[in-house]
Amino acid sequence: MEPKTVIVIGGGPAGALAALVLKKPGLSPATFEKRSKNIVPTAPHPFWEVGGCIDIHSNGIRALERLDLSLIDEVITNSGGTCSKGDFMLMDGTDKMYQYLVPDRPGEHKPLQILQSSFYKILMTRCEKAEIPFNVGKQVVGIEQSDEKVTATFADGTSATGDFLIGTDGMNSTVRKLVFPEAKPPQKLGVGPLASST
Ligand SMILES: Cc1cc2nc3c(=O)[nH]c(=O)nc-3n(C[C@H](O)[C@H](O)[C@H](O)COP(=O)(O)OP(=O)(O)OC[C@H]3O[C@@H](n4cnc5c(N)ncnc54)[C@H](O)[C@@H]3O)c2cc1C
Repeated sequence: MEPKTVIVIGGGPAGALAALVLKKPGLSPATFEKRSKNIVPTAPHPFWEVGGCIDIHSNGIRALERLDLSLIDEVITNSGGTCSKGDFMLMDGTDKMYQYLVPDRPGEHKPLQILQSSFYKILMTRCEKAEIPFNVGKQVVGIEQSDEKVTATFADGTSATGDFLIGTDGMNSTVRKLVFPEAKPPQKLGVGPLASST
């Protein structure tokens, strides 16, 4: 039997990771990413050099561990260390600041600090090794579903049909708007991160 195909819309960290997770039990994912610009033309993959530092918290670390222990080892090797506290600021002009302390629970990892570009590079290298197709310049503009199949259409006039479709196209997801037009858009909470540190 042919493996079930999954269209993954959005090729950021979540899309790359989703494709890896789906490939593991034998599904056949393919990623469709709207960007097509070479941000660093000499890089083996055009989208590696993006973003600043991110913290991967214990829930994310547990998820990576479940997927593949060698993946979390690689993330730890490429991280800048762990963090114990984070500073946040209210964006309402009051200059109020908040600090959270990461609880020290036995068996729980402290958040890992890693450049988003390094994390992304690890994921994309694994996607390439797993031979997951990564289609660029594919901005989804339409989704049609039947009882059996789902078809995504792209701004360049092409389309892709699969058994499943996953939207990993970020905070202002077009997939969410197309599938759930009544869903509320993301709300600003008025809190901004300042720094996290050991
Ligand atoms: C300064 C800064 C610090 C941050 N720190 C943290 C942190 O510590 N921890 C943390 O977890 N997060 C942090 N974040 C947020 C972090 O950037 C996101 O968690 C992460 O990028 C989410 O990944 P994603 O793949 O879900 O979405 P994105 O990175 O937004 O990727 C979505 C992808 O979908 C593509 N796309 C969008 N629309 C379409 C479309 N219509 N068709 C096809 N493709 C489309 C986009 O081009 C993009 O490549 C931080 C962000 C910033 C800016």
